[in-house]
Formats: sequence, structure tokens, C-alpha cells
Amino acid sequence: MKRFSEHIVESVVNPLIKLFYPDECRNCGGILSFGEVILCDSCFSKFEFQPKYEEDATISGCQFSYIFSLGIHNGILQEYVHRMKYEGVQSIPKRLITRADEIGILPSKFLREKTLIPVPLHPAKVRERGFNQAEIMAQALSSRLECDVLNALKRIRYTLPMVELSPEERKRNVKGAFAMRNCNVQREVVIVDDVLTTGSTVAECARILKEAGCDVVGIFTLTRAN
Ligand SMILES: [Zn+2]
Repeated sequence: MKRFSEHIVESVVNPLIKLFYPDECRNCGGILSFGEVILCDSCFSKFEFQPKYEEDATISGCQFSYIFSLGIHNGILQEYVHRMKYEGVQSIPKRLITRADEIGILPSKFLREKTLIPVPLHPAKVRERGFNQAEIMAQALSSRLECDVLNALKRIRYTLPMVELSPEERKRNVKGAFAMRNCNVQREVVIVDDVLTTGSTVAECARILKEAGCDVVGIFTLTRAN
């Protein structure tokens, strides 16, 4: 839970700082307009994603037909993920996914008519953050393509942040952390998450979904660690 002082900083102090020192575009240095994040619209329209697409890929011991990420987890994209998760800028997934679709780098034919399953957050985390970033990503995808979003999974155990854990610790950390909600999944499913690192989280989600009879075909993430 956030302390009261942190809420004051977020809701009062930061907006005041922005009023007197507006954000500048990271690329051209121009003042960002309302709704622009990190890059102005003009620079964003020239942003190169460097998408990562892998077919018949195995990650963390789990086999997928494909793994797709919009780009590498560094630079501007890493900052977008950070601003989305830790500063609550919920417009980011829609902005990135819309642009990716416009320039034709979304793996549309693999996503179309699939069921998108966001990696769930623990309910305490959702209360703290106010949203699940994987869910707003899935919704942004579904509004561009003919796929639906289903919160088929729930997190039943609080897990440690993965950032400082080794690959083995990550596996242990998420083992048994997820369970199925009471729902019926008819179509092929794609797991959606913000960042792909060792893949232990998505592999554990896939294990639970497969046990429930789901045909898990792919993974979609905003970024992939190199
Ligand atoms: Zn710019």
C-alpha cells in the first residue's frame, strides 16, 4: 500500500512540477502537448519498434507456436513500460499497439480470432496500481483486431518482484501462483504480458491453462529482454 505522503507527491506535487517544467520530447526537445508521452506525435510517428518474432519457440520449458514482442526492453520502449506500470499512464498500450498496427508490424493473422488472456496481478497489486497493465494491453489489441479478452486466470499467491531474481528463483517464485477462474475458453489462446524476460511467468500461466484444456498458441508482450 502506498503511504499518504506518496499519494500527495503523485497527485499534487508532480502535476505542479509539470505545470512549471513541462515535459520535453526525448527526441526533438519540443514541449509535449496533452496526451503526448516521452515523444511528441511527430517523433513517435517515426519511432522504430524493432519487433521480435519467433516461431515454434520454447521458453522456460514451454512450447509456443509463436512469441511476439513489439521491441527490445531498452531505450524508449523500456521507458514506456516504466511510465505505464509505475506512473499509471494507461494510454500507453493503446498508443503503441495502434501505431504498430498502422505500420503493419502486429502479427495480426496469428492474433485474429484468438482469446487474449492477460497475465493477472494479485488483487492487492491491482488495488495499489489501479489497473492491470496486461489487461489494458489485451483490450488495446482486441480493439484493433477481432479477438476477445478473457480474464481466465487469477493470481492466488503474492509473488516477489522478478527484477532481481535469478532464472531459477523466478521459476520458484511463480510456481503455483496462478489458478483458473471458473470460465470456458473455446478458442485458441494467446497470453499477454508487458515484459518477457526468462518467460517463467508466461510458462507457468500456460501450464495452468493447458491443464484446463486450453490450446495455448502464443505470447504477446510489449517488450522482450535481450
Ligand atoms: Zn519530438
